Amino acid sequence: MDLPKVGDRIDSIDTPSMIADLDLVDANLKKLMGKLLPTGLNIRPHLKTTKSAILARKMNAAGAKGVCVAKVSEAEVIAATGFDDLLITCEIVGPAKVRRLVELFRKHRGIRTVVDSEVGASAINDALARAGIEEPISVLIDLDVGLHRTGVQPGEPAVALARHVSGLKHLRLIGVQGYEGHLQHLHDYEDRKAQCLASMKILTETAEALRKEGCDIQVVTTGGTGTAEFCATVPGVTELQPGSFIFMDTDYRNAVGTFYSNSLTILSTVISKQGPRCVTIDSGLKSLTTDSGLAECKDPRYEYGVLGDEHGSLSWAEGTPDLKVGDRVEMVPSHIDPTVNLHDFYYAYRGGVIKEIWPVDSRGKVQ
Ligand code: PLP
Ligand code: MN
Repeated sequence: MDLPKVGDRIDSIDTPSMIADLDLVDANLKKLMGKLLPTGLNIRPHLKTTKSAILARKMNAAGAKGVCVAKVSEAEVIAATGFDDLLITCEIVGPAKVRRLVELFRKHRGIRTVVDSEVGASAINDALARAGIEEPISVLIDLDVGLHRTGVQPGEPAVALARHVSGLKHLRLIGVQGYEGHLQHLHDYEDRKAQCLASMKILTETAEALRKEGCDIQVVTTGGTGTAEFCATVPGVTELQPGSFIFMDTDYRNAVGTFYSNSLTILSTVISKQGPRCVTIDSGLKSLTTDSGLAECKDPRYEYGVLGDEHGSLSWAEGTPDLKVGDRVEMVPSHIDPTVNLHDFYYAYRGGVIKEIWPVDSRGKVQ
């Protein structure tokens, strides 16, 4: 197969293809670091968005330290590229997954993860004991700070779990994670800030309560693209986990504005004309996700509609220039993380020419 190469022109590559505007990617990274590095906090970007080891390295070169991944299978892929400092932010439950964690930890001692139940913590501890691995794995208590997705409840339940973990020989409790995902897209700046600060109060008070129990809580990790700047103002927070900032999407842009730019699009081709002001493009549900609404054409005069797995429509008002068969358009995803997971490569361009190609290394790694 004739895959695109560095030096090829973007207007020559096949579609649908995921293309990234290198200047905007660089600018987004610079903006994030400019905002957050001066706070002195550790920036541990979430790789659930990009799923790319190359981008992990770029972010670390720009000042980040380590990365987050969502799942064990993502961690396996990224660690295999030589990246050791990984926080797995989802609970690891079930014998198969715990075994994978143990094997990963055997080779990569920088792996750390979260627990939110006694049974989950004990299972990891027991598996490490059975594997004869002496060095304890670093874990964080995952705390529910209002998202109600995962996390032990604050107060006594969190303290009880920390006590339990502290008694497990193969786990080393190093911190607390509290992700306020329900606040990332709150449109109103002041409301987002106020609710975030309330979540941070729960998180930092819990960290203090665990310290009073004698736990050595060094890491208090939290935050996403929509909240990291607020989290960073709270004494006691040590680490931030933004992910989407690097590419953004229409959902985030509509909620939190254009401080970060939409830097990624799905290049598509008009393959059929279906009416005087309506064409069909080659990007449907398998190229662009719809859980957060429909993608938008980069040129806002053309409105997107889904026509099934492989197709979408673009329609326009009278007076707008016609699209014709063979034309190419760029579509801006509505939700970046699951859209990236549909594609094999990023073609990163500048001046219309591919400058870098980044594999989506952990594409499909959902376990
Ligand atoms: N941390 C955790 C635990 C997450 O689940 C996510 C995203 O879902 C993030 C950080 C990154 O958030 P965002 O993509 O909004 O920057
Ligand atoms: Mn997301």
